[in-house]
Amino acid sequence: MRTDVVVVGLGAFGSAALWRLAARGVNVVGIERQAIGHPFGSSHGTTRLFRVACMEHPGLTEIARKSLALWTELGERTGETYVRQTGSLNVGGPDSRPVKGARQAAMDAGAPTTDLSHDELAKRFPQYALASEDVAVWDPGAGICYAEPTVRAHVAEAQRLGATVYPHTMVTAIEVGRDEVTVRTPTTTITADQVVISTGAWLSKLVPSAPLSPRRTPLFWFQPKDPASDAFQLTNFPAFIWEFADGKGLWGHGSDEDFLVKVGLDGAERDRDVDPDELDRYIHPRKDIAELSATIAKSFPELDPEPVKLMPCMVTDSPDGQFLVGRYDERVVIAGGDSGHGFKHCAGVGELLAQVTTKETPYADVSFIDPLRF
Ligand SMILES: Cc1cc2nc3c(=O)[nH]c(=O)nc-3n(C[C@H](O)[C@H](O)[C@H](O)COP(=O)(O)OP(=O)(O)OC[C@H]3O[C@@H](n4cnc5c(N)ncnc54)[C@H](O)[C@@H]3O)c2cc1C
Repeated sequence: MRTDVVVVGLGAFGSAALWRLAARGVNVVGIERQAIGHPFGSSHGTTRLFRVACMEHPGLTEIARKSLALWTELGERTGETYVRQTGSLNVGGPDSRPVKGARQAAMDAGAPTTDLSHDELAKRFPQYALASEDVAVWDPGAGICYAEPTVRAHVAEAQRLGATVYPHTMVTAIEVGRDEVTVRTPTTTITADQVVISTGAWLSKLVPSAPLSPRRTPLFWFQPKDPASDAFQLTNFPAFIWEFADGKGLWGHGSDEDFLVKVGLDGAERDRDVDPDELDRYIHPRKDIAELSATIAKSFPELDPEPVKLMPCMVTDSPDGQFLVGRYDERVVIAGGDSGHGFKHCAGVGELLAQVTTKETPYADVSFIDPLRF
């Protein structure tokens, strides 16, 4: 088979690249090792936090805004919602990263925010057992985006626009020649002008020189102690990042369609440099749950600290915490190194990947995510 572009790996970044290439009329084939929207990579579970004022790098704002615009446009066509901007709370001491960082990021992004004093925060959000120094920055443009449904929507839209998709097909080799790229699977060989490699935690398997480190990072969901309480519904308990005095913290958001409250622990990262093919997919109560449950019991007393649902997941760290998105050589474009903050940007990254592949001028500054910067 011969085509213009093959996209290998249809998770968050690859599914978006497939869609944006198909939207340009490029002959594109997408290959995914698992089912579309599967739970074995980095893009499963219903939701991810969304914001345009990004503490990780000022250059990310334009990419998040592009995601928002593309998802809004797609939602108008499909009748689905891909982002809910119910606002977010950035909580901590006055000098903490969430408070100072969110304020600075919002100023850089030209996004309005509101400062909440300790008393205002305690009154509006009684779910929090605050420390005496805690204050907050309220970011009304933030919220949540939908992970698995969005990956599926990207792929469905790409197929509607003419893309060919092979799920359950593993790419075993990519050979880059002078005149073409050959992509091999156990059942098919495809030649193309270019390949986009977006295999997430598996990126280093196909691009060994990419300096990436996959990390095992489970996802957790909880329920209120009082099942009749609406205190932890999304509109009453919106997305948040909360840093404690010891530098650790919690992040999450209230229950939405799945009636579960998502909470994760920051500052307890472990299980680095894992082989994604050998990922420990068991959950270990002491190692995985004990610290998070104890922190929830102290911080949100009305939430049952025993998780009701959990799933292993992976973050793929890059050396500087920014993505690797762009041209790798004349026929190879790559996207990976999500560093735990990639989902909100994935549609915008897909647009960049399509622009790089078709040699258009990128809509945003991409120097900070250039995969050759190392
Ligand atoms: C616990 C947790 C919380 C997070 N929270 C947030 C958040 O709040 N906000 C946010 O913006 N981001 C968040 N993220 C990050 C976000 O989920 C990731 O940035 C994003 O999902 C990464 O997508 P990806 O396309 O790089 O990887 P993936 O979605 O894993 O896609 C890679 C795909 O490649 C496929 N593949 C691999 N090898 C092959 C092969 N040889 N042949 C064919 N296919 C192959 C895989 O099966 C997979 O489908 C979080 C991540 C985790 C783990």
